[in-house]
Amino acid sequence: MAKMIFADLTLCTACRGCQVACKQWKKLPAEKTHNWGSYQNPPDLSHDTIRLVRFTEAVVNDKLEWLFFPEQCRHCYSAPCKRFADKFDAKAITHDEESGAVVFTDRIAKIPAQGLRDACPYDIPRSNKAGVSTKCDFCIDRIQGGMVPSCVLSCPTQCLVFGEEDEIQELAAKRLKEVRKQYPEAYLGDPLNVRVLYLFQTDHRLYYQR
Ligand code: SF4
Ligand code: SF4
Repeated sequence: MAKMIFADLTLCTACRGCQVACKQWKKLPAEKTHNWGSYQNPPDLSHDTIRLVRFTEAVVNDKLEWLFFPEQCRHCYSAPCKRFADKFDAKAITHDEESGAVVFTDRIAKIPAQGLRDACPYDIPRSNKAGVSTKCDFCIDRIQGGMVPSCVLSCPTQCLVFGEEDEIQELAAKRLKEVRKQYPEAYLGDPLNVRVLYLFQTDHRLYYQR
């Protein structure tokens, strides 16, 4: 059975351990950052930052909340990015049945980057100056080696949990029930379409909008 990541956002402390662990495992360079009025840095996903912890202040039910959103590719069951890329080259994006990972291959270089980004309902792919797109690959190398994705390993709060699809769906349903006692508006984001399942305490549009 394929795998899933559960991300219970009510447990995220925005420590950014996952963001750093991702860079470390993928050997992605640091980006020069600057104070732009937010702890969120860099300000957006990029070719070198494929996992980003977003920070947003929002008024929820007349109360100021600080919302944290560790964002990455959702590894969609039926990936719109792959449907787009297949029109040019069916081998540019692979969908690994065993893990469920949606993976950009070297052949992604020939796929129009803006079209690819526009095809993604979650605005995930980013490209470098040469127009080559990239995104999270679910740490498929680690999964195939019997390890959990690097981000999950680094998470100190159990916000991120990795496991078999049925176990994660069960855990997510259980946590949703518990979380709703404190946050009645909580819900699971797109549970029938994605392998990275977020539990939002409030409207997901308050966490991030393109
Ligand atoms: Fe593709 Fe976007 Fe889905 Fe990731 S979230 S698999 S980039 S469509
Ligand atoms: Fe949140 Fe866990 Fe990432 Fe820290 S490591 S920012 S708690 S998801």
